[in-house]
Amino acid sequence: MFDILKKTLKTGSQTTKYPQIPDIAPAGFRGKPELLSDKCTYCGKCVAVCPPGVIWLTEEKGEKILTLSYCGCIFCGRCEEVCEGAIKLTGEYELASKMKEDLLTSIRRKT
Ligand code: SF4
Ligand code: SF4
Repeated sequence: MFDILKKTLKTGSQTTKYPQIPDIAPAGFRGKPELLSDKCTYCGKCVAVCPPGVIWLTEEKGEKILTLSYCGCIFCGRCEEVCEGAIKLTGEYELASKMKEDLLTSIRRKT
């Protein structure tokens, strides 16, 4: 017991103050994908390559709608790789939610 206390006093605290102080993800971290509506051409490439199939392209009332569900996203980055700038993986990792619906994001454009 005394040895552990001595070691702790020597090394100091090894834990961070998260969540009181935000823990910034390191460079290259693959977090929440973000859709950029002004850059999307609704080509569907991201839909075709998404391994778990959590991106959908639909048409409704004269609008093309691109929807992404963070519920099931494996943060592989394939969508970002094939897209020419309309999907960016961010450093955000706080995606816990009680409702599946809260984990949907979408962009739309008139056809
Ligand atoms: S996000 Fe990119 S790959 Fe997906 S439909 Fe839009 S332009 Fe195409
Ligand atoms: S990061 Fe991977 S799993 Fe997530 S939406 Fe993009 S392609 Fe799909």
